[in-house]
Amino acid sequence: MTISRDRARRISSRIESWFARNARAFPWRPTGDGARDAYVSLVSEIMLQQTQAARVAERLPVFLGRFPDVSSLAGASEDEVLHAWQGLGYYRRARSLHGAASMIEAEFDGVVPRDVASLRSLPGVGAYTAGAIASMAYGVREACVDGNIQRVIMRTEGIDLEPDAPETRRRVWDIARSLVGSSVSPGALNEGLMELGAVVCTPPPHSPSCGVCPLARLCIARREGRQQEIPRPKSRSRQRVIFHDSVVVAHPRLGLRVEQRPDAGLWRKMWQPITHEGESEATAEAVLAWSGVKSVEERGSFEHQTTHRVVKVRIWSGSGVGRGTPGEWADRGRLGELAMSNAARRVIAHSGELTIG
Ligand code: SF4
Repeated sequence: MTISRDRARRISSRIESWFARNARAFPWRPTGDGARDAYVSLVSEIMLQQTQAARVAERLPVFLGRFPDVSSLAGASEDEVLHAWQGLGYYRRARSLHGAASMIEAEFDGVVPRDVASLRSLPGVGAYTAGAIASMAYGVREACVDGNIQRVIMRTEGIDLEPDAPETRRRVWDIARSLVGSSVSPGALNEGLMELGAVVCTPPPHSPSCGVCPLARLCIARREGRQQEIPRPKSRSRQRVIFHDSVVVAHPRLGLRVEQRPDAGLWRKMWQPITHEGESEATAEAVLAWSGVKSVEERGSFEHQTTHRVVKVRIWSGSGVGRGTPGEWADRGRLGELAMSNAARRVIAHSGELTIG
């Protein structure tokens, strides 16, 4: 069940005029009447999938400075791309973006495609990202639904259903299509909905700022006093817990002992201080045995959250490299150039052995 054309038109026009006055300045948003570059849209949308806007605003110009267009990104090595992605986390997206650039070069003459079907054929580009790029970069009348847009639509329409249920998703997408169908500018409508969800119709624990919301007079959840109840909290499945025991071995002349992670699984092919991954915490004897160093001392621990796992990291300092010690030496200059997860960098910083610039 969708909404009437009249209601869709009223919602769209309020969102578009509110967005014209309230859009925050971000590096991926053109100023004035400037058109949005499709490559910049692709990169920024993939970054924004799992990273906060403020962090993307910081990292995007650096990434674009290194890879200013599709061909420079397609021609780079995976290691270079991973290194430029540092600070954004969820590295699978960097690999997807790299793969997308290669595919655009090979199959679309180096031009980011404008139709949703072609966009969706690119690695890492799902229904939301395809709709966002098509509408914002090319003005195509396509909807897109992310968490912010879903929340705004569910509250405005008073949809009190399980947020992840297929029926809910279908209904929200139908309404999003109706809204974009009655908009003046599909890109501004989509981006305005997202912006409203990010700064006004905010998720718990923040209360939505209904007093300044352009949809206040149309909003069913507000009329019924149910803004805090819709959408219902998602039921979280139990996350897998894994244990990393990381040994920081520093040598005054040779640098730090590092190794590359396997070609599959978490943080694929990224660098780290020598680390044992297991289903339970290792004893000091076990750490000595696999690391091959002469002595170890526990220095601290922290938890790192990924999409599907909790990584419990224990940090050891080690000394006296033996024959069986895995990895290789990396001097201070090289350390800064290696692609490392935030967790690996935190291990090094936490150990107090070295500071990486
Ligand atoms: S009135 Fe409140 S609940 Fe409704 S859309 Fe606006 S901010 Fe969200």
